[in-house]
Amino acid sequence: MEEDEIKMKYERMKSYFITEQAIQKLAANGIWRELINALSESDYNFLGQNVIKFCPLYSPASHAKINHQIPAHSHLVIFDVNALCKRPPRQAVAILLHELGHIAHPSEGEFGADRFASERGFALDLISDLEEQIRENPKEFNVPLNLKRVEALKKIGDADPSNP
Ligand SMILES: [Zn+2]
Repeated sequence: MEEDEIKMKYERMKSYFITEQAIQKLAANGIWRELINALSESDYNFLGQNVIKFCPLYSPASHAKINHQIPAHSHLVIFDVNALCKRPPRQAVAILLHELGHIAHPSEGEFGADRFASERGFALDLISDLEEQIRENPKEFNVPLNLKRVEALKKIGDADPSNP
């Protein structure tokens, strides 16, 4: 990818974070670069047009000083920075893409959200994450819906054949 394009994506993504405090940590864990590269030009326009902002949180509770105007009906993608940083970068990004999918396909539930991630080449990463969660947190995750999600993701796979 062209250096200019990376810089443009970097600046645009930064503008979609309501606070910059998490960016450094995401970058140190390889998540930031994976995220800015996962989205196409039209995805960036989608973020801008729908006023979608990323709002990092640090579990169990944290505060964020917001340096943006957040108009009514904006969408916030709220995520636990530490939980994401425990994961391989692509798995972390798959989770964020899934959340964007809820905004892109509001009437399609989990399957529409998963499809958004798979269309960007992250089906396998989402499957890995779901399977890990089902194994490690069965009480919360070993439910019919999640098993169906894994099945559906395996069926549709990645839209991008260059994804390893
Ligand atoms: Zn969901």
